[in-house]
Amino acid sequence: CGIVGYIGSRPATPILLSGLARLEYRGYDSAGIAVYDGEKIEICKAKGRLQNLRERLEGHPCEGTMGIGHTRWATHGEPSDINSHPHTDMKGEIAIIHNGIIENYLQLKEWLLEQGCRFVSETDTEVIVHLLNHYYEGDILKTIYKVLPLLRGSFALGILCKNEPDALYCTRKDSPLVVGATDHGSFMASDIPAILEYSRDVYLMDDLDVAVLRRDGIQFYNAFADPIEKEVMHIDWTI
Ligand code: GLU
Repeated sequence: CGIVGYIGSRPATPILLSGLARLEYRGYDSAGIAVYDGEKIEICKAKGRLQNLRERLEGHPCEGTMGIGHTRWATHGEPSDINSHPHTDMKGEIAIIHNGIIENYLQLKEWLLEQGCRFVSETDTEVIVHLLNHYYEGDILKTIYKVLPLLRGSFALGILCKNEPDALYCTRKDSPLVVGATDHGSFMASDIPAILEYSRDVYLMDDLDVAVLRRDGIQFYNAFADPIEKEVMHIDWTI
């Protein structure tokens, strides 16, 4: 299982697919991407090998210079197209990818059902995107900080929001996540090899840090939502 994300000046889909291919060794049962061109968030996902996703993309191109990608190792809900990530809220305005397990998802799901949310998948992950939508008041960064304390368990999360065509968000707790920058854009990934093809300057995310990835740079915030500076780690090894 793994996550990748890219925002920059190049088409996102090939970058996401090559990043996911580098994460294949971690094992997975399905894969998917969400790409945003500033007008519509396009999602394509498929149970099975990355090749299935590639074939599906031939008939359903996802164009845009920002996006998120996921390989899933199912923990809640069988491997299926519907349970594959990314997942969205009911309006399709926020898309997320998640590695890990939300331990209190049943309680959260019960509460969200009472609020009128409709669930389409059997995943624990889907509660996160409905929570983000529920608390969203125009500032996704603030919303993320409202939702994080509600989640028990482990997560690496990539978040794409329709109202934010120039930023991708990511955060983690007890699941790996790194972020990298290069002259044509910014990246997130579960581990360094998925980024190395494009960037040797990598930042390690601490638990509950949030990173805002933009085409021209990355801003980090700590668990208390304070802006922080992070030291860049230059990677010398080759893959
Ligand atoms: N728990 C989530 C699911 O079953 C994420 C699994 C993963 O880490 O890939 O969909």
